[in-house]
Formats: sequence, C-alpha cells, structure tokens
Amino acid sequence: MGRLQKILIPFLGLVLAFWFYSARENFKPEMLKGKRVIVTGASTGIGEQMAYHLARMGSHILITARTEAKLQKVVERCLELGAASARYVSGTMEDMAFAEHVVKEAETSLGGLDMLILNHVGTSYFGYFNGDVGHVRKLLEINFLSYVAMTTSALPMLKESEGSIVVVSSMAGKVGFPFTVPYSATKFALDGFFSSLRQEFSIQSVNVSITLCILGFIDTAESALRAAAEVLLVPPAPREECALEILRAGALRRRELYYRYGSTRLPLLLRDWAAELLDYLVRSRYRLDGLKSN
Ligand code: NDP
Repeated sequence: MGRLQKILIPFLGLVLAFWFYSARENFKPEMLKGKRVIVTGASTGIGEQMAYHLARMGSHILITARTEAKLQKVVERCLELGAASARYVSGTMEDMAFAEHVVKEAETSLGGLDMLILNHVGTSYFGYFNGDVGHVRKLLEINFLSYVAMTTSALPMLKESEGSIVVVSSMAGKVGFPFTVPYSATKFALDGFFSSLRQEFSIQSVNVSITLCILGFIDTAESALRAAAEVLLVPPAPREECALEILRAGALRRRELYYRYGSTRLPLLLRDWAAELLDYLVRSRYRLDGLKSN
C-alpha cells in the first residue's frame, strides 16, 4: 500500500499539473486578427454567429450557404462590426464542384487561407428511420463529402499558412441518437475521416490542426434538430457562446471541443465502460409522447 501511494501520488500530481498548465493556455482575440477564414453554413445559426465574432476580431471572412439574401445581410453586418474584409459565395454543398469553388474563391480573393470552418448541415427529418436510402446518400454528400472536398482543395493553402481545420459535429456523432439516424451517420463519418487524417498529419509532420467540435443541443433552428426541441427534455445552450467556444478551440489548435462540457464530455466518459447505461441516459432525454410518427 505504501509503495502504491509513493507511485500513485506523484503520478496524479503530474497528471494534474499537465492538465492545469495545458488548460491555462489563453485565447486572445488578436490571434484571429487579419486571419483569412472560410465559414460554411453562415447564413444563420451558429455559423452566422461565428462570422460576427470573427468580424469583431478583425478577420478576413468568406462565408457561404445557399440563401444569397441572408448572406448579403451577414456580410453587411460583419463590415459594420469591423471585419478586415467580408464576402460571400452562394450555392449548395450537394455539388462538390461548388464546394471546391468556394475554396478557389479564397485563393483568388484572399490570397490564401488560415482557417477552414466546416459547419453547414443539410435538412433532414426527426423521427424513426424511414428507410429512404436516397436521403441518406444526399445527406452524406452535404454533411460529409463536401467537407472532404473542401478540405482536399484547401490543404495546399493550409499547409502553407500552417493553418487550421475546424469541423462542427455533434454528440450524435459520438454516440447513437434515436430519431436522427441519417444525421448521426454523417456526423460519425466526420469523426472517422478527420481523426484518421489527424493521425496522418502527425506522422507526416503536417502542421495543420484539426479541431472536431462535439456540440450538445444549441438554440438554433437547425434543420435536423428543429423538431427535436418539442421532445427533448434538455434546455438548449446559447448559439453566441457556442460560436465563440468553437473559434477559441480552433485558434488554440485543440484536438476536440466539447460544448457544453457537462452535457457532452461527462456522459461520453461512460461510453467505453457502460455503453448500455449511456444509451439509456440518451433515450431518457426524450419525451416520446411528443414524437410525431412519420
Ligand atoms: P442551422 O440550420 O441554423 O444552419 C445551417 C446552415 O447550413 C445554414 O447557413 C444553411 O443555409 C446551410 N445549409 C443548409 N443546407 C445547405 C446546403 N445544401 N448547402 C450549403 N449550405 C447549406 O444549423 P446550426 O447553426 O444549428 O448548426 C451548425 C452546425 O452545428 C451543424 O453542423 C450542426 O450539425 C451542428 N450542431 C448543431 C446542434 C444544434 O442543436 N443546433 C447540435 C449539434 C451540432 P441555407 O439554408 O441558406 O443554405
């Protein structure tokens, strides 16, 4: 017992010291001043809020989504808030050529890229899996393949700037969630692709960071989760704070962000040791009588 204590206490001390000092690394808004950033899905929701934060920090911003009228307004607001520059490209991420075009636009108009924030999400349904394979394929194209296409096109610029890729995912991409089966599948795919790519970057000494953001329920009108608000028993977190936490994690080159920590990271600690308990806890967050059958 005495010998165990002699080993255990210094070991715990080392772990705590590592945690304390790595957690102390400070974010400063100047870190993003003058940086060239693409934000996808920025016509509304969390993406729109990220654009406003970046504008206040003085970044060069290129935003994209489908709805041109909304993008125009977001760009105007970004310029009012102090963006070094702000522009948009409108189009759909169902089209991989468009995804690559957005990156090309950063090259021609900004002369390079420091941060690629992949945030857009296609419309899905909330309910039991309806067997529509075509919908799963389409959602994979929007929520996953376009992320891959943009990353591939942006890599030469990101390698040159030693920049960052920020991938917005969800709790539903770490643990099985009912009623959002196609959506969850696309978010799990992001984890597989970007976590594996991070390993290769490490082996090849590629200095491009990848931050995977695991979000809980946020107060936006997000397509896949709009109907969930009626049956979820948890209150949503504010999108402005969420957007700032994503930028902070990206600027600090964190491996993963868990927002909010208590409702994402802590439950996930159960995943490897008590998976059935975690599944039960996830199911218990829904009020099933509020669920409309599709
Ligand atoms: P919103 O629905 O508010 O915004 C989605 C954005 O994606 C919009 O700008 C939309 O613009 C754009 N978009 C939708 N379809 C396409 C398309 N086919 N091509 C290009 N752009 C498209 O979503 P949130 O802000 O809530 O979500 C942002 C991210 O956060 C997503 O990745 C989501 O999965 C994740 N997340 C959100 C949670 C939440 O509770 N809100 C929880 C967990 C994760 P337009 O319609 O103009 O194209």
